[in-house]
Amino acid sequence: MKRVLVATSNPGKIRDLAGAAVAHNVRIEALPGFSSLPGVIEDGLTFEANARKKAEHYSKYAEGELVIADDSGLEVDALGGAPGVRSARYAADENDMPLPATTSADEANNARLLRELHDVPDEYRTSRFVCAIAAARNGHTLATFEGKAEGILLRSPRGSNGFGYDPLFYFAEIGKTFAELSAEEKALYSHRGAAFRAFLAWEDESHEQHPHNHR
Ligand code: IMP
Repeated sequence: MKRVLVATSNPGKIRDLAGAAVAHNVRIEALPGFSSLPGVIEDGLTFEANARKKAEHYSKYAEGELVIADDSGLEVDALGGAPGVRSARYAADENDMPLPATTSADEANNARLLRELHDVPDEYRTSRFVCAIAAARNGHTLATFEGKAEGILLRSPRGSNGFGYDPLFYFAEIGKTFAELSAEEKALYSHRGAAFRAFLAWEDESHEQHPHNHR
């Protein structure tokens, strides 16, 4: 079974990628020692720029290995594309105060999103998740991939799977929020699943063209 090294410690991202990997006979592994490696400042203006930054940085700690990193977020049409690349820090950006110990960053982000959209009627609550994946080796990006998923933002959360904005993101095609999906379903419909499948197709292709060389 092929193994793919991922530079993340986000259990939600690992779950999504592992869900997508099942169908492709691929095993997802976190980069060894990831949590003790120095971090990287995600100050890129695009998802792709941040994904490249992370993949290049972390691949330096796994010599010779192909390492992937994802950068992702939610674009809300009524908010001019916000929170976008600031999705993970949406509530924190508004308020420098530390969160109460009982509130997770995801809960605080969702609370801010609901507040910002309070007066926005249902037909204008359109949004999309975007995921950029970069594949790098020895500090150099070899390729990048993008996936998107379109959804409507609800007025209250539904479901307890997933992470981040999943409970507010209603995917009309199957009438569920992303937090109501199994890992396999989320992999099938999500931005991360789409980007990951594009990565796997590229990897298969590059193996065929260069059997002993990843480029
Ligand atoms: P990143 O770790 O810098 O890529 O930030 C990603 C942030 O975007 C997460 O913390 C979530 O707030 C949001 N996000 C990205 N992908 C998803 C998803 O699949 N479901 C829910 N929220 C997501």
